[in-house]
Amino acid sequence: MILSGITKKYNDNSLAVDNLNLEIEKGEFLVLVGPSGCGKTTTLRMIAGLEKITDGTLVFNNEIINEMSPGERKIGMVFQSYALYPHKNVYENLAFGLRKAKVPKDDMNEMIQQTARMLGLDGLLKRKPKHLSGGQRQRVALARAIVKQPNIFLFDEPLSNLDASLRVSTRKEISKLHQQLQSTMIYVTHDQVEAMTLGTKIAVMNKGKLEQIDTPANIYKNPRNTFVASFIGTPPMNLLNGNVGIKDNVPFLALSKRSWRVQNDKAEKLSEYDGQAVIIGIRPEDLFLTTEENEHLTGIIETIEYLGSETVIFCKTDVGDVLIRLERYNHLKIGDTVQIGFNVEKLHFFDSMKEENIF
Ligand code: ATP
Repeated sequence: MILSGITKKYNDNSLAVDNLNLEIEKGEFLVLVGPSGCGKTTTLRMIAGLEKITDGTLVFNNEIINEMSPGERKIGMVFQSYALYPHKNVYENLAFGLRKAKVPKDDMNEMIQQTARMLGLDGLLKRKPKHLSGGQRQRVALARAIVKQPNIFLFDEPLSNLDASLRVSTRKEISKLHQQLQSTMIYVTHDQVEAMTLGTKIAVMNKGKLEQIDTPANIYKNPRNTFVASFIGTPPMNLLNGNVGIKDNVPFLALSKRSWRVQNDKAEKLSEYDGQAVIIGIRPEDLFLTTEENEHLTGIIETIEYLGSETVIFCKTDVGDVLIRLERYNHLKIGDTVQIGFNVEKLHFFDSMKEENIF
């Protein structure tokens, strides 16, 4: 599926989606992620045919499908609200779309039984939705999309109504289904953990525009700008203000009272910023505590979160607030002064005006 210059203006003339270009390969699991109101649902609804496209072209199987009805698109959709028929039992909920498509009765029965087995719903086919748990309802909604053997699956925040543990198990189920079915899936969420764990590719959106599209690992390793850098990753990347200079032909970074020579593959690009301010990005797991005074950043601990396998501490430093992720339990206390170290190799540099990564 190819989205070229897809734009959506609502009646009040507000631009919900702004010139979106995306290419989704067959069998790919693409996650659209971004903050509330960035245009994810509108994009999904345009793909489904539920929302008219204002501008641009939507191509599927080499055909422009802008004007094709939702039914003709053969799309399976799963919503946050399940959208099950309350008066029909599970079997009838699954049968509804197949009957409409005039699937012969024996085939229909086989398809329903097979899908029910796949999702562990075989014992629940006679139940009405009100007699099911939230997790079971969402499995029925998934089954209803699968049973129709659609060309493409669209998910709109399907896990938001589930509690934390069900969210994790249903997430795994969706991942397993993708591996089993090898179908193209497009999944909308504002939850970056869902995006990282489910997506073969992630498209990060902000204010109707695409900020970056890549594999989860590449987005994490090389965020294109400060928005993506702080949106992907929990806790988010630290962004600090520093300055660049050059000494003996080698660029250095001045941060707080110290400077660090930068001699990796970023050095050449960084040299162009001689005498300028830059934004420095450091992932919380790339910071460590050290005892060497005056060698690193000095911070005062403001909060400590013990999370079992890791501890997240929040420090004030003279160049900004810093989050540090430590692997083990430790005996730090609020108010402690700590020396914070990092490896220059792990730093990201962003242009302080454009906020774009200086690759
Ligand atoms: P959320 O995560 O909160 O669901 P989203 O990223 O899915 O947000 P959309 O629902 O696509 O965002 O909304 C994008 C923008 O379009 C928002 O500013 C929203 O207010 C606006 N919008 C959405 N639907 C309509 C509508 N029917 N009429 C007018 N404006 C709309």
